[in-house]
Amino acid sequence: MTETPAATPLRLFNSLTRQLEEFRPVHAGEARVYTCGPTVYNYPHIGNMRAYVFADTLGRVLSFKGYQLRHVINITDVGHLTDDADAGEDKMEKMAAAKAQSIWDIAQHYTQAYWADVKALNIRQPAHWSIATDYVPQMIAFAQSIAGKHCYELESGLYFDTSTVADYGRLARAATEEGEGRIEAVEGKRNAADFAIWRKTPPGEKRQMEWDSPWGKGAPGWHLECSVMSRELLGLPFDIHTGGIDHREIHHPNEIAQNQAITGCGSLDCAEHSGARVWMHNNFLIDRTGKMSKSSGEFLRLQLLIDKGFHPLAYRMLCLQAHYRSELEFSWDNLAAALTRLKRMVMAVAQIKARHAELGSASITPFDPHPWTLNQGQGDMGGKFAPLIERFHAAISDDLGTAVALTIFDEVLALKKTDPGEKLKMIEVMDAVLGFGLLELDRASLRIRPKSATLTESEIEAELDRRAEARAAKDFATSDAIRDSLASRGVEVMDGDPLRWEWKLDLG
Ligand code: AMP
Ligand code: ZN
Repeated sequence: MTETPAATPLRLFNSLTRQLEEFRPVHAGEARVYTCGPTVYNYPHIGNMRAYVFADTLGRVLSFKGYQLRHVINITDVGHLTDDADAGEDKMEKMAAAKAQSIWDIAQHYTQAYWADVKALNIRQPAHWSIATDYVPQMIAFAQSIAGKHCYELESGLYFDTSTVADYGRLARAATEEGEGRIEAVEGKRNAADFAIWRKTPPGEKRQMEWDSPWGKGAPGWHLECSVMSRELLGLPFDIHTGGIDHREIHHPNEIAQNQAITGCGSLDCAEHSGARVWMHNNFLIDRTGKMSKSSGEFLRLQLLIDKGFHPLAYRMLCLQAHYRSELEFSWDNLAAALTRLKRMVMAVAQIKARHAELGSASITPFDPHPWTLNQGQGDMGGKFAPLIERFHAAISDDLGTAVALTIFDEVLALKKTDPGEKLKMIEVMDAVLGFGLLELDRASLRIRPKSATLTESEIEAELDRRAEARAAKDFATSDAIRDSLASRGVEVMDGDPLRWEWKLDLG
């Protein structure tokens, strides 16, 4: 018997148990997801953005499966130290000092820059962007209610005693005591892994961001922020907590310890005591060009890709072609290949649209990222599309198998002798998960003129026309001269380009 979509369970890899588990929502029909967001002291690099493309894909899959999604992403505008340890500087204070700007201006500027990247990558808006500085009173109240049993005060702040909760560090699977130096020593700490939940302003100093608290003036610890905001906005336990794999080592074990403290300390054998039922982590984007470090001047941020003539959704494609739990190596060639794949899809869709128009069919439904739940969709899925949508559904339900889903999507595009209107509907349904907005993209919008190119598109096209004429007249000397002159101005002519895209940025 063919498996129906509704019978395909969603299986997700839970970092806490290191196992694939069937997703069972805490509240029937709902999915509540918290994603650790950026610390807005600098532009995000494209590795950071992989974490949000992953969280967005998870959200889209949950929507596809018919869950009412409540997604929260936080913005950390206070409290994140430079080295995840307790002795570093506050990243925000440091950048504000370096730029001689107020912390509030720094936060505002980089939050806007992050949101621009979110938009460019078609990452859907979450239900809430929670801004850490909006929740300081709640953070103080949280700390107060666990302080008696779980914390101790030192000169530098209020510290969480990690020996007071069961299974501390299980998520990291690391030794917690000697801890391979994983947390820098602060004098007086009871255990190496203990961490500050409130950092006192040193006597005689004034921080730009500081609040009164029972422990004196100071600022909340980074780990406390996420425990408080997820609890406030989603309630404990909620369904899924996401972040990059580095958070599996310190930040999330510390969040879990605080959640255990506030909920009564149960053992992690019951995953709900951790605050979220499922903890998910994307693996890293690896870059061997050395440009991903935020201290390297021109670092790999989305705008750099755009400046070099790549449409930002090529980066989304690059992410989706890999499994989120695999390392993904960045290279300009990989990005160019991802862009080519996206172009092929856009051209295929254009052809289907043209056929649809030729047949005089009714206009295509405008793109809506939430068009479909399984119940609504089933009626339309007859004939040739049914096995494809089932395989697509199985792929994304298998721990977000986007790489496989993309190949099935390619099969849909290539399917012959189908009604173009129905095919466009199928594309819309699948694209709502993949998130390219394919029905809206066109050839022209994908071709971005590289910043370094000194020619306009129309100048390039005019040169190409001249070259085509020269070639037609077998005047290869002129044709080569035009190619060389374009190359010297940053434009590479692509003879024999199967997509007939004709030119692209020469990346040198
Ligand atoms: P941050 O702003 O440093 O807190 O990082 C934002 C998000 O990006 C976190 O979820 C990190 O775990 C994640 N992240 C950092 N570096 C990378 C990388 N190279 N690849 C993928 N995710 C990353
Ligand atoms: Zn967090």
